[in-house]
Amino acid sequence: MKTDPDAPLTPAAPDEGVPVSVKIRQRILAARKRFHANDNIADFVEPGELEKLLDEVEVKMQGVLDSLVIDTVSDHNTGDTARRVAKMYVNEVFRGRYVKPPTITEFPNAEHLNELMIVGPITVRSACSHHFCPVIGKVWIGVMPNEHTNVIGLSKYARLAEWVMGRPQIQEEAVIQLADLIMEKTQPDGLAIVMEASHYCMAWRGVKDMDSRMINSVMRGVFLKDAALRREFLALIPRRTDRS
Ligand SMILES: [Zn+2]
Repeated sequence: MKTDPDAPLTPAAPDEGVPVSVKIRQRILAARKRFHANDNIADFVEPGELEKLLDEVEVKMQGVLDSLVIDTVSDHNTGDTARRVAKMYVNEVFRGRYVKPPTITEFPNAEHLNELMIVGPITVRSACSHHFCPVIGKVWIGVMPNEHTNVIGLSKYARLAEWVMGRPQIQEEAVIQLADLIMEKTQPDGLAIVMEASHYCMAWRGVKDMDSRMINSVMRGVFLKDAALRREFLALIPRRTDRS
């Protein structure tokens, strides 16, 4: 076959062979956006790319197993581990990085509710950004609506929390992300969030403290100004140190 030395190289697929993670990263950099562990990057992932990303993570995960000197060929337990871990990361525990926020139907506040409303405990599951160890706990949300506040169904708070927690997180940043999201969706007069969670990086490794929990809170709007309201919210949350 005669070839023209000046012809463009493979015009059909110029980016063939470029890993999908590199393509996504280039789009994020071009848009000058952040892609920290707890950022959502769904706007930069094109249809069909998540499946390719999963394949890419599987290959890299197999590399980790190889470097840990685990015989994944003979060992029937670890033969599919690379694929399973890749699926767990991309489709389950870190899904909140790669998919758009859950669609939430907002209703006008027809009843003009303006009493403190508390949602919780909502069970939340995440992983710490430092070790990728599970962080499992509960969240309580206090909302002080006004007549203009959009009302969302109770279960929707859990879905918003799931989306935010479905990323490698730092608890202090997770509650702020959740507060920002709920403020944006419902625009209440005030919002209070308390999160209590067990950090398994403390139990499984490190100091091996099996019982350490971290509690933190975010207050917005009237909860910042009104100490009585803050006390009312904290008093209505069931005693958080109770063990089952
Ligand atoms: Zn950790």
